[in-house]
Amino acid sequence: MSTTDLSAALAWLSDQGAAMEQALAQLVGIDSNSHDKAGTDAVADAMAAWFTGHGVDWERAPEPAQGDALVARLAGSRPGAAPVLLMGHRDTVFPTGTVAQRPYRREGDRAYGPGVADMKSGLVLQAFVLMALKHAPALPFPVVGLFTADEEIGSARGRLAIESWGRGAHAALNAEPARVTGNVVSARKGGATIRIAVRGRAAHSGVNHAEGASAIGALAIKVQALHALTDYASGVTTNVGLIGGGLSSNTVAPEAEARLDVRFCTAAQRLALLEAVDAIVKRTDVPGTDASFDVVSEFLPLEPRCSEALLALYQESARASGFEVEGEFTGGCSDAGFTAAMGIPTLCGLGPVGAKAHTEDEYCRLETFVPRAQAVLRMLGRMADSVA
Ligand SMILES: [Zn+2]
Repeated sequence: MSTTDLSAALAWLSDQGAAMEQALAQLVGIDSNSHDKAGTDAVADAMAAWFTGHGVDWERAPEPAQGDALVARLAGSRPGAAPVLLMGHRDTVFPTGTVAQRPYRREGDRAYGPGVADMKSGLVLQAFVLMALKHAPALPFPVVGLFTADEEIGSARGRLAIESWGRGAHAALNAEPARVTGNVVSARKGGATIRIAVRGRAAHSGVNHAEGASAIGALAIKVQALHALTDYASGVTTNVGLIGGGLSSNTVAPEAEARLDVRFCTAAQRLALLEAVDAIVKRTDVPGTDASFDVVSEFLPLEPRCSEALLALYQESARASGFEVEGEFTGGCSDAGFTAAMGIPTLCGLGPVGAKAHTEDEYCRLETFVPRAQAVLRMLGRMADSVA
């Protein structure tokens, strides 16, 4: 039996459907590509204004080159209790100017617009959960909302904020969109983008061919070996998606470069994969060439063991909010992997139901806003009961 009385907060949320849609339209109306600092900061401004209006404390950690980290905080009633982290990213993949071309629109229960599901709907949901908590007695633990601005480009800066604010957290709840099935995300692949640079020796291909060492020739051999690491059964995939190099058709190529995407399901697979990539890159396939690589960006996996307990808690909370969900695996990466890798129980896909992210057809199912927000709130109540 629940001892944490969230009834007033739940009742408040049940009246917020229209306000949530309005908030969603407001955020979708702001272009916020990951590289657009002014845009991602404008999204933070909008959210901060909501928080101020509802008495939720917030602060901003400035970022010089990209959007600031926005942190909203509710104090806990018990000193020293580990916080629960509510996460979201404010950036989208869409270039600045997209909003003017296809602004927010609604058709029936579906909302459309750039980033409407991924993940402006999740930002709205997390913000309304934080504001709803102002209508309830303080939970024993602090609740921290962390809203970063570079998830779509690998979270290089966001990861630092997540690791700093997440340290010691009791749980992390990420509001990427729920799957098209309605399910939440209990497991995600990790992935990395790796840049491979091969150096060879230039030579005129007609005059002194034998003196050259072809970087392209070496890279072509490496690509074959890298692709051979794909193992669908274990979930490991490798994909060289970009290559470049050479000077002209009559020059033995002095340089070549490739971008490799790798995906993995566990920390152990990640290690084995990086070792294999290291061996392939470093071996000399063509005499006179050498190669190196660096990891440009990386997401860690969300392994099912990190989400199990929270999934059970969310399923109970969902049922109490009028819907049923299962946990689902996806090959897509998210910030959830960073908290999971820190040993923090983590669940993802807690946003409203959405689909077709990163495309013009992206949509969010508006009728899922209130029940999904209530489920997160109920889940926090259950956590409060378990630490009370
Ligand atoms: Zn996302």
